[in-house]
Amino acid sequence: MPTLSHRITTLNGGGSDGWDVFYRARAMVEAGDDVIELTIGEHDIRTDPSILRAMYDSAVGGHTGYASVPGVSALRDAVAARVTAQSGVATTRENVLITPGGQAALFAAHMAACSPGDTTLIVDPFYATYPGVVRSAGAVPRAVPTEAETGFLPDRADLEAAANGAASLLINTPNNPTGAVYPRDTLEMIADVVKTCDMWLISDEVYDTQVWDGAHLSPRALPGMVERTLVIGSMSKSHAMTGSRCGWVIGPEDAISALVDLATNTTYGVPGFIQDAALFALRNPILEPEVAAPFLRRREIAARVLKGQQLVQAVPAQGAMYVMLDVRATGLSGEAFANALLDAEYIAVMPGESFGTSAAGHVRVAMTVDDAWFEDALQRLCRFAALLAEAV
Ligand code: PMP
Repeated sequence: MPTLSHRITTLNGGGSDGWDVFYRARAMVEAGDDVIELTIGEHDIRTDPSILRAMYDSAVGGHTGYASVPGVSALRDAVAARVTAQSGVATTRENVLITPGGQAALFAAHMAACSPGDTTLIVDPFYATYPGVVRSAGAVPRAVPTEAETGFLPDRADLEAAANGAASLLINTPNNPTGAVYPRDTLEMIADVVKTCDMWLISDEVYDTQVWDGAHLSPRALPGMVERTLVIGSMSKSHAMTGSRCGWVIGPEDAISALVDLATNTTYGVPGFIQDAALFALRNPILEPEVAAPFLRRREIAARVLKGQQLVQAVPAQGAMYVMLDVRATGLSGEAFANALLDAEYIAVMPGESFGTSAAGHVRVAMTVDDAWFEDALQRLCRFAALLAEAV
């Protein structure tokens, strides 16, 4: 009997993939239970009808065959122009590979940066797929811890302690799950360390249009970084196009041309009608703020609800669509709290432990339901935490 490969059977590192509460909530929904799902990073609005119209027009117009593997030139140009405008770094279509979503871009970037067996640094807490995507590329993830007390920002000493022999560092700002937006001095420190240690920097910027405090700064724009940075972008979060699977990698020309070979042998590109819809979306700047606005509103709601009590502490969310709550005062782990909340209140949140060890005792709340439900769910969460704390 043939056996499954070592790579595929060890993808989750032997433990859980961190999605247990999410799957349990989904099973409850399927069984007819009324669960408020604050788990996955998916908008409560759908893709704008004007984008769908562009998709339809493209498909009916015949763009249903194999599309150009690196991406349709007009879309590569539009992404390059957007990146140039945002970062000030001259970027052309030769620096852009269109991929089936940011997830495929993360895989591609690690395939480019890491040889089999290489170590890759990830900042803990991390987006739940990071260790698996690193292992998919044959590399070995090494977590760099951070602390809630310092806003989950990486610290130079911790980074340097982990950097020895590493091929790349993966960062994410605005951050999922913490909502942190890395300030300039943190990014300068990171740039310094990756240059000194001759590493690649893989910068996941899929939430770059959702910044509530400060401003998004791409580390690719820092001195000496353009040649060693691979930026991950996506239409998923900025344009509520999660299901369309359209993202990109930005990088040096030789890296992108090598990644076109990877795409030829794996994905064979992204459907042309999806790319045409993405191009339409990027050409309509009104769409981005519309998609981002509900999260800014709900962030204010969260601040108001949490101010009314002392037990559950919020880590200030500066960007992205989540708020991280410290539930350590209940005496439970994030995982135990999330499971108990689901059973008692039918509210599903992600345990902090799904994102590494640094966010233990926290839960991540996605701000992805209607404002009134969101407020009600947070109030119930706080009341539930208070009941648990009384019992401690
Ligand atoms: N990076 C981060 C930080 C994310 O949160 C996500 C999606 N939740 C992705 C990448 C991948 O998104 P997509 O593949 O839909 O572009």
